[in-house]
Formats: sequence, structure tokens, C-alpha cells
Amino acid sequence: MSATSSAGAAGGAPITLVRGASWIVAWDEEQNRHVYRRNGDVAFAGGRLLQAGGRFAGEAADVIDGRGRMVMPGLVNVHAHSADEAMTKGLFEDVGTPALHGNQLYTYSQLLEDDPEALAPCTRVTLGGLLLSGVTTVVDLSVPYEGWIGELAASGMRVVAGPLFREARWRAHGWHRLDYEWDEAAGQRAFERALAVLDEAAADPSGRLSGILAPSQADTCSPGLLREVQGEARRRGLKVTLHAAQTMSELDEMLRRHGLGTVAWLEREGLLTPDLILGHGIYLDHHPRLRLRTAEDLGRLAAHGTGVAHCPVTFARTGMTLDSLGRYLRAGVKVGIGTDTWPYDMLEELRQAILCARITSGDVFDVSTGEAFHAATAGGADLLGRLDLGRLAPGACADLVLVDLEDPAMRPLHDPLRSLVHAAAGRAVRDVFVAGRRVVREGRLTSIDLPAAAAALEAAQRRAIARIPGRDPWGRGLEEIAPRALPMD
Ligand SMILES: [Zn+2]
Repeated sequence: MSATSSAGAAGGAPITLVRGASWIVAWDEEQNRHVYRRNGDVAFAGGRLLQAGGRFAGEAADVIDGRGRMVMPGLVNVHAHSADEAMTKGLFEDVGTPALHGNQLYTYSQLLEDDPEALAPCTRVTLGGLLLSGVTTVVDLSVPYEGWIGELAASGMRVVAGPLFREARWRAHGWHRLDYEWDEAAGQRAFERALAVLDEAAADPSGRLSGILAPSQADTCSPGLLREVQGEARRRGLKVTLHAAQTMSELDEMLRRHGLGTVAWLEREGLLTPDLILGHGIYLDHHPRLRLRTAEDLGRLAAHGTGVAHCPVTFARTGMTLDSLGRYLRAGVKVGIGTDTWPYDMLEELRQAILCARITSGDVFDVSTGEAFHAATAGGADLLGRLDLGRLAPGACADLVLVDLEDPAMRPLHDPLRSLVHAAAGRAVRDVFVAGRRVVREGRLTSIDLPAAAAALEAAQRRAIARIPGRDPWGRGLEEIAPRALPMD
């Protein structure tokens, strides 16, 4: 694309220029991969990139000094929950339910009462943290609440809204048995509500919001509903995401119900498609913890073009991870990276994705930093069907991150992505642009009052903790259920 020279405008829109960036992570269209470029310009206007590398010949309305900076594409987070996860921060990191394979999902989450006042602060804390770590696109899977779409729009982020719905609810019976309470009519109503919310997202004037169909879990939705969802997704041209193969308890249940693991069951029901993204796709039949006698699920996912949203940190906290990121990629499975929950640092998540893969495989060569970075950018964007995201190429969305190469955590500087992922993480992110708008300036959010949101969330967590004895079957308080990291003196 050639630059115009008329008073710093491209098609009338003012041009922003990062002049002389020391490093650029640019997109090589022919090779379909990121490449480093040195000492070049990055220009954008009207929310789109004009140029990434080389000398920009036009005039810019806004010029940013790129010396000592790396310009890289904004990160694409394919799986997060903004409305509730942040509420549990600091509470349950050291506990799990032994009889449910050490998971916390089914028992501990039931201890916190829904709090309407916590929802918006939770969303702000989540999206604010992600922006500060260089995320420009997030798939937000939340039970929709009044004002949710407005919060997403106000964040300044590019958000793929996934309003959750399901037909069954989990009930942990006596903290040892997982029961399912089915209410298909309620599930249908929630599905219809989700469709209305998707309409709301699509109509948002910011142009940064889009939608994804998000039936909650493979074990809480009937095949009938999932087929309805698939039809609706085709009609709307949207993707579908579904928690599947995420815990060993889920696998127990699927084997009990169908005699099949989750992925084999989805295939049998005709639900494995290229438009489907599994969150988190850990317990496939080859996983060594399961001791199943087959290893066919990876081939199934590759053959159907079904993707996986890999969120290593939250699972690693309970001693679990998929086996292994490199193995999935070599099998031809499309993988994107998500944060699911806190610490809301996508670069930290990326580091853990690499470490978990290498520990699980016992192999330093299982996945490289470049491959993992691809998954966290263009790979995730591909899953979402957005070839204009996660890459710096002319015509792509102007979603980009400026990294401070002079931050001590980045030095000594030989390979900036390695320094960023393996050492500095979110600390070195200085500026973030979404659709050409600066939403992080010199390390500070311009769109979200993060301290105010954090204070409101903390107050909500305190209220929730006070109500735990009323929700625990034995009337216990938090200190008994999940003692602090150290005893109080
Ligand atoms: Zn999730």
C-alpha cells in the first residue's frame, strides 16, 4: 500500500507514525509467519496498518519516536472470563477437591455468591490487566449481565463477546460426587438471551466488538442444543467455543454417559467442525493421566480442523496441563493461547505455555518461543477467522504494542521476544494501540480506572467471603476451607 503525502492523511484519516522503531515483529505474507525487521517505520491510519518496516514516505499527524522500542502485533487472547474469575484471586490457589481429581472448579466456585455489584469491576480489572500485558483482542466468555456489552465497548479493547449458556448445572454432592441438574427449558431461554446479546455486540458503534457462540461445557449441554448452536453459528457466520476435555471429572462423566471421551463423542454427534474452538482440550485419549488405550483424539481434531484454546496457568496451578503444546502443533491441531483467569498477563501465560510443554514432553525442542508467540497472535486470530489480527501487515488492524527495550528486564538485549517472554513479560509493555487508538500510554491505561475497579472488586470479595459459611454445607468459613498462605500470628 503506498503512502499518501497529503497533510498526513490516508483516505482522510490522520496518520500515526512510529518512526525508526529499533525492532519490528512484521508479518511475512508469503511465508505466513512473523519475521524481525530492524530500524524501520510503522504507520497506521483509520484503524488499519499502512506499513510495518522500511521508510515511510508520507507525512504523519502524530509521530512517536521508535528508538529503543519494539513494535509487535497485539496479543490475541482466545479464552478469558471477565465477569467472575477475578473474584477468586487469593482464595483458592492452594486447594482442590481430592475426590474430584484435585480440581477446584466444581466445589470451591459454589462458595461465592453471585454479586451484581462485582460484575462491572471484575470486567474492568480483567480487561485492564490484559491490556497492560499487550492483549488487544480477547474472547470474553461471561454469563451476560446488564451493561456487559457497554463495559466491553468502553474498555477500548477489541472483544469477541461469548455470552455463556447451558442446560445443566454442576452440583458437588458432599464434595465427592459431581451431579448434574438439568433444566433444558432454562438452557433454551439462556441460549435465546445469548443471541440477543450477540445482536447487541454486533450493533455496537465502536466496531471493535463481535461475537462467538459460547455453550458453556460439553458435559452441560445436550447434543440437540449444540446442533442448534452450530446452525445458528453458520447462519451468523460466527465461531463456536465450548469447554471440552477440561477435567478428569468431565471425562469420568462422558465415559459413564456415552462410553466415549469428550472428543470422540463430539465427533460421533457431528459436532467437530473447523468453526469450533475447544477450551481447553487437555484430557484427550492420549493423555498419560487417563490410561486410556487409544491415541486418536489429536488426529480427530486435526482432521476436522477443530481448534484448542490453551490456557496453561490456571490448570498448572492444580498440577494439570495438556500433553503437549508441541505435540498438538505437530499433529496439525490449531492452537491459540488464552489466559482464562488471572494473573492477566498474557506474556506470562505464554512463558508458562512453553514451560509446561517442555516439562510435559521432557524436551526443550517441544515448542520454540517463536512457535508459542505465533499461537498467541496469528494462531489465535486464525482460530477466530480473523486474518487481519495478530500480525503487522499493510491492511491489517492497527492493533499493536510498543515494548520498551531499555527496561532493565529486557536487557541484555539480543533477541527481544525471548527477553520479553522469558524475562520481562508485561513489565516491558509501554504503549498499546487498538484500532489505532492508544489505550495504554507509557504503561498507564487511558480507558479504564484500574485502581477504582480493583477497590470495588476487593470490597465485593470481602462481602462474598463473609457469606461463605452460609453456603458451605458444614457452615465453615474461608479460613477453615482454604487457609491463608501463612498462619496469622
Ligand atoms: Zn474457561
